[in-house]
Amino acid sequence: MIHLKTFGGGSAEGRAKDKALLGGKGANLAEMASLGLPVPPGFTITTEVCRYVMDHGVGTYPDGLTAEVDAAIGQVEELAGAKFGDATQPLLLSVRSGGAASMPGMMDTILNLGLNDITVEALAVQSANPRFAWDCYRRFVAMYGEVVMGVVAADEHDEPPLDVILESIKSKHKAVRDQDLTEAALREVVAALKAAIQERTGKPFPDDVRTQLWGSIGAVFASWSNPRAEVYRRTYNISATLGTAVNVQAMVFGNLGDDCATGVAFTRNPATGTAELYGEFLTNAQGEDVVAGVRTPLGLPELEKILPAAYADLVRNAKLLEDHFRDMQDLEFTIQRGKLFMLQTRNGKRTGKAMVKVAVDLVAEGKLTQREAVMRIDPAKLDEVLHPTIDPKARPPAVAKGLPASPGAAIGRIVFTANAAEEWAGRGERVILVRTDTSPEDIHGMKAAVGILTARGGMTSHSAVVARGMGKCCVTACTSLRVDAPKKKAMFVGGGKELAIKEGDTITLDGSTGEVFLGTAPLVPAQLASELGVLMEWVDSFRTLRVRTNADTPTDARTARSFGAEGIGLCRTEHMFFQPERILAVREMILAPDEAGRRAALAKILPMQRGDFAELFRVMDGLPVTIRLLDPPLHEFLPHTAKDIEEVAADVGTTPAVITSKVAELTEANPMLGHRGCRLGITFPEIYEIQTQAIAEAAAQVAAEGVVVLPEIMIPLVMVDEELRRLRALVVRVFDGVLATTGTKLAYTVGTMIELPRACVVADRIAEHADFFSFGTNDLTQTTFGLSRDDAGRFLPAYLDGGVISVDPFVALDQDGVGALIELGVRGGRTTKPGLKVGICGEHGGEPSSVEFCHRAGFDYVSCSPFRVPIARVAAARAALAETPK
Ligand code: PEP
Ligand code: MG
Repeated sequence: MIHLKTFGGGSAEGRAKDKALLGGKGANLAEMASLGLPVPPGFTITTEVCRYVMDHGVGTYPDGLTAEVDAAIGQVEELAGAKFGDATQPLLLSVRSGGAASMPGMMDTILNLGLNDITVEALAVQSANPRFAWDCYRRFVAMYGEVVMGVVAADEHDEPPLDVILESIKSKHKAVRDQDLTEAALREVVAALKAAIQERTGKPFPDDVRTQLWGSIGAVFASWSNPRAEVYRRTYNISATLGTAVNVQAMVFGNLGDDCATGVAFTRNPATGTAELYGEFLTNAQGEDVVAGVRTPLGLPELEKILPAAYADLVRNAKLLEDHFRDMQDLEFTIQRGKLFMLQTRNGKRTGKAMVKVAVDLVAEGKLTQREAVMRIDPAKLDEVLHPTIDPKARPPAVAKGLPASPGAAIGRIVFTANAAEEWAGRGERVILVRTDTSPEDIHGMKAAVGILTARGGMTSHSAVVARGMGKCCVTACTSLRVDAPKKKAMFVGGGKELAIKEGDTITLDGSTGEVFLGTAPLVPAQLASELGVLMEWVDSFRTLRVRTNADTPTDARTARSFGAEGIGLCRTEHMFFQPERILAVREMILAPDEAGRRAALAKILPMQRGDFAELFRVMDGLPVTIRLLDPPLHEFLPHTAKDIEEVAADVGTTPAVITSKVAELTEANPMLGHRGCRLGITFPEIYEIQTQAIAEAAAQVAAEGVVVLPEIMIPLVMVDEELRRLRALVVRVFDGVLATTGTKLAYTVGTMIELPRACVVADRIAEHADFFSFGTNDLTQTTFGLSRDDAGRFLPAYLDGGVISVDPFVALDQDGVGALIELGVRGGRTTKPGLKVGICGEHGGEPSSVEFCHRAGFDYVSCSPFRVPIARVAAARAALAETPK
């Protein structure tokens, strides 16, 4: 087992490639040190040690670790010219977490470690700044008290007790800001914090620096398993067994005076992708002040004015690191007495828009190949580029404005705590989490909310970073906002006015401008940037899988075509039945006592359906259009209210009592497994006949207009080949009849959905009668798992939270189970018909991992909702690239 690796003084034992062992932070600190960048010396205790601790219990370390840590500290002491615990030249350390995958703010950090009543005096002398020394000390005691000794708020409504102490001493001394506290007041803070720690824990704050170090190391390892880190890992599918590394590093100080600063920088703008050094800093501040959002930071251009030499170094290092890693970097730096130190670099989190622009720009700059650029795209993140924004023409007046921390627009009802967000979202509400500031404890609420609004913070504060990562609309630093979470209300103040809002009110956020609106603002569809077009051209040159869309209306079809859909893979004809002027005719059809009655009702529906299909064919000119014949359980169309029943009765010339008894007769115990799908076509062939007639007549009509029509008729829920044999014969008879009467020549195909396990098993027989298969993985998942599509949401979340299953099978295709059946079905179908066309039209057709599966399984196409078409295109390209040699 490797226990630790050292870095500093222009060399390092580790490298960037060692992320699994050293964590992202540690590996990149090593890489920066090896590149000769100014990194304070230190060492990284490995994730292997963390896994050992997880296996053996908190505080149990592998043999030999203590001696190695002592030796490594010796090396740091030499490089830093100071000694740990020394009464004249004390070495101070930072102890930070860092796993292989970045989890911003989720785990713990300790700064200024090594201070006690003796070393603090030495630091005061050495820095010639006693106030600074005591400020470091009070920060350390508070951090250690919270993180290691567990003196924290009892619940989210409580203020952290150690913060309360600081605030009360500040108000006693009339200090507005932390910096206004004098040395004497800071001494008072330290004494009060220590007393509170002793009182609450029964243990004294430790003076021994090695005790402090091991306490901190233990706390960082333990923080891997804290609840917020666990939520974060579940959200981002990070394995719980990886463990974190611990980085122990000599402190540098951004708070020694006005020639000191601390900040964060992105080598490109993380919201837009524009190539500019972008970031924030605070002078005379330490570590977490910038990200914590306590003081409002300055933009980097100000740094150039205040500390030009350090700024020039930062610009140079930023370029060097971006070129070295060939990706946008997210940097942390500290300037101590005018000298720049680099504390972290990592690939920067970015919005979907920035992801596309940076990838395309890096290719233009010759830093990436097109292939690498496509592999850098997270298909799911394209969602953000494709989503609506607030209509600029109908923009209501904003009631407040903050920083545009994460773009997009969100409309939702206000909640004030993370728990409330989770609770309301669980009830199906769209909520906006409104907080004074978010902390990592709020992660579950941020996940549940559609948008986040905070009074404090900046572009790089916790809420901004986390929201951007989640692709959620977020507005921070909305300074006119006053939140009173316990009373479930808030206020926007300004211009002598106050505007009250309360829990449950609806607001709209614009994450691209930082504006806040009361009520619901009108939205417009996404505007696609030119870079997306460039990227998509590369994507299309790599992919072999075709991407169609599920669309039932001409509007959806048009949107999908503009997103690059190559046809319609599923038109659910029943969606056309729900329009108010049609539903009555549909009800008449269902409730008719006999075939003649059904035919009379169908005759009313026929012209409407014909019109729908004709328009779809026109929009999809030259592309295939798969139309599915009626599928849903009939009960979905039944009248339920007394008024509906009376209406239908009057229309078909009977009494409400007759209709009521017919409704009772049609009600099924398990409609999803009942009289639906092609079972309707078998029992009421006239329904499928009329639908086929509408399709064929529309095709003939539109073909006569010169449109290239490629109709594909699809039969749902086939369980035995005989169903398909009969229904195919029916379709062919009706379709050919129409073509003959109209004298039209056009080719059409007849295929089937495969959405039952039995159909997968006997696919070879079913294929005898099919020109194509389209896997309906919604029903196939439902029937394979024996899980109701409509009710699983009540208990599946418990399965996910408890880790019984790792992903919702209705979201990402279950490749082991459902996938195995699909492979069986494809094999069976192509045994009978080697060239059988195969696609998917369940919701999985737009989910990246499922699309990749379809590529590997030899599908011809996937079909998904219009907004997911670009996502599927990227996923298809990545799947193709993954299997071709570079
Ligand atoms: C399916 O079952 O996957 C499918 C596409 O059909 P529906 O969702 O309409 O049942
Ligand atoms: Mg289905």
